Amino acid sequence: MIYLDNNATTSIASKIIDEAPLFMKEYWGNPSSSYRFGSRLKGIIEDSRETLTDLLCIPYESLVFTSGASEGISAVIASAVSKDKNKRHIVTSNVEHSAVLNSLKMLENDGYEISFVKVTEDGSLDLNDVENSLRKDTCLACFMSANNETGVLFPVNEIGRICQKKGVSFLCDATQSFLKQDFDVLKSGCDFAVFSGHKTHGPKGIGGLFIKKGSPFRPLICGGHQEHNRRGGTENVFGIWAWANAAKIVSQGIMEKRKAACRARDTFEKRILTGYQGAAINGNKIQRLCNTSNIYFPGIENSAFLILLDQNGLLASSGSACLTDSPEPSHVIKAMKGAEAANQSLRFSFSLQTNEKEAEEAACIVLRVANELSF
Ligand code: PLP
Repeated sequence: MIYLDNNATTSIASKIIDEAPLFMKEYWGNPSSSYRFGSRLKGIIEDSRETLTDLLCIPYESLVFTSGASEGISAVIASAVSKDKNKRHIVTSNVEHSAVLNSLKMLENDGYEISFVKVTEDGSLDLNDVENSLRKDTCLACFMSANNETGVLFPVNEIGRICQKKGVSFLCDATQSFLKQDFDVLKSGCDFAVFSGHKTHGPKGIGGLFIKKGSPFRPLICGGHQEHNRRGGTENVFGIWAWANAAKIVSQGIMEKRKAACRARDTFEKRILTGYQGAAINGNKIQRLCNTSNIYFPGIENSAFLILLDQNGLLASSGSACLTDSPEPSHVIKAMKGAEAANQSLRFSFSLQTNEKEAEEAACIVLRVANELSF
């Protein structure tokens, strides 16, 4: 099997799998307990926080552990609208993840006004549009650092500057860029940023929320005093430990890993573009994640293509895994190039370990299936 759906999720780092049974057997106490058997787990949580905040170059106390990026997004949005009842306007782009879009659509039903900044045909944002969409009654701007379907990068530092100038809080969905792309959280000026463990070889159900010092935040989940009163509930100690350790492993030699992923992706794309007439890359080819390739195959419907690829041992997708059950084509490709292109485009997302040989093999399978289907 060749797995090219790493933007949906990644395999758990093998060191974590090896060490997990012992960890679970040994460290199952409650970190909030007064006796050492439980409280020693606090040390594990704090060591893990240190590892992750060091990797992210953010202050130690600015990272709150959550169940994943979706929770962080929901928490920030709920907090923003509760701050000032006269500010009922939110700005975002039309290619955000469903965790953002569906949270905002719910607010729209409640009478909030949402402005969706449109992307260009190559998935890029026009900063003038971002600036012009911010108003006096805007309580939040939500923009992702990297698109999960195309890998296209948004100019988060510039967006942050514009939001600061206009006095609007900025939530950056950094789920896909963590470790795959340089993203300086502090330099971006964002007030909030969200991360997810399972995108970089950690387990599912764990993530992080960065809260800039001084940015007003009201917790979504109330409970005990965990996470310095910013997220109640007994901590997912295993998830926290596993995510931090996986991130540490992935971060080793990260520049070389990114270059290798880029080489594998480029080899793959070159073979596809020369082997299938009319195939085209969706999204800006330069401002893009090193691991992501979204390709338009004119004349081939996604659903049949994906089934045949699966039968031939290659796993890819036609968009976000969260929307697989939806009959609608990808909202991202639709926003960039229209519905027909969205119905005929696939996402291939490499891991930081995919090598060129595997990429060549994958391209052969894709071309064989594509050419079979186009007759
Ligand atoms: N944001 C983006 C850009 C994503 O790609 C994902 C996951 O696919 C999410 C948010 C949601 O992450 P989680 O699964 O941690 O809730």
